[in-house]
Amino acid sequence: MTAATAGTTDQATKRVLLAAPRGYCAGVDRAVVTVEKALELYGPPVYVRKEIVHNKHVVTTLEKRGAIFVEETDEVPEGATVIFSAHGVAPVVHEEAKSLGLKTIDATCPLVTKVHREAVRFASDDYDILLIGHEGHEEVIGTSGEAPEHITLVDGPDDVPNIEVRDPEKVVWLSQTTLSVDETMETVRRLRERFPALQDPPSDDICYATQNRQLAVKHMAPDTDLMIVVGSRNSSNSVRLVEVALEHGARAGHLVDYADEIDESWLDGVSTVGVTSGASVPEILVRGVLDYLSERGYDDVKPVIAAEESLMFSLPNEIRRDLKAAGMSDKMRHDGAFAEAGSLH
Ligand code: SF4
Repeated sequence: MTAATAGTTDQATKRVLLAAPRGYCAGVDRAVVTVEKALELYGPPVYVRKEIVHNKHVVTTLEKRGAIFVEETDEVPEGATVIFSAHGVAPVVHEEAKSLGLKTIDATCPLVTKVHREAVRFASDDYDILLIGHEGHEEVIGTSGEAPEHITLVDGPDDVPNIEVRDPEKVVWLSQTTLSVDETMETVRRLRERFPALQDPPSDDICYATQNRQLAVKHMAPDTDLMIVVGSRNSSNSVRLVEVALEHGARAGHLVDYADEIDESWLDGVSTVGVTSGASVPEILVRGVLDYLSERGYDDVKPVIAAEESLMFSLPNEIRRDLKAAGMSDKMRHDGAFAEAGSLH
């Protein structure tokens, strides 16, 4: 595709490539519905440790409905209910909550829990576990907390020379679920150069949703002058989508929470705009971006479908039990109720 001369894009050449899949994954959907159902069932306030998912709009909308987001469990009043976020928590957080007499609902994504279980199993077999992930990310803190004595964080390929292990014959790598697939494979390649006996995880730790959203962006990027990724700055998988777009040929890429963060000058000379969204982003925010683009002549929207997704998780057991006892539905909602309820900005 040839980009038009800057500032003179012909109306007829303007189009949008819209990634599929994009937006909500099964783990985010489950976590958000957990907070909604808890508000319905127990009434506000309902406490949530950390952002339930890393999206500004979701957090703000739930706050308006009565959710109170706290950094740590000791900010929650005695006897209250606290929900743990989709990113997972270390065992010590469960213990703290118990000692404070809190009722807990664990909305950790089951695919994060799977990585926790792998960490526990390899630690009990006395492996050194090299956890590939971003330092300070909540998921990494939670997973590391399962076996702090056995886990060493590897923060990208450049961190590999710094890694020390006790026994190079007994080493396994695991990863955060929301990383760049390509960068992680490069990190593993370098780790294996240093530790040839390095074992792979029993199954992919980078989750299906992260992989599929990156795949769609890889398909679109070579034909894209500008990639707009809807997502928040603290959303790891959303930030990765911008990086993947730029690595695979998009000429420019930006992350926005809302359409009104788009700078009109980004569209100068742009024929094809790619649009996608991170796994924690409600579709209403993507619609806002599409409306913005349509008002500027980009109303020819072509979907780019990289994969079909149908995975769905049931709600956490703790809330299902209480919903059942109250005679309320414990079914996940897929009617866009959340998206419609929030204001656009
Ligand atoms: S991005 Fe993946 S691991 Fe994270 S909540 Fe979604 S499905 Fe779960």
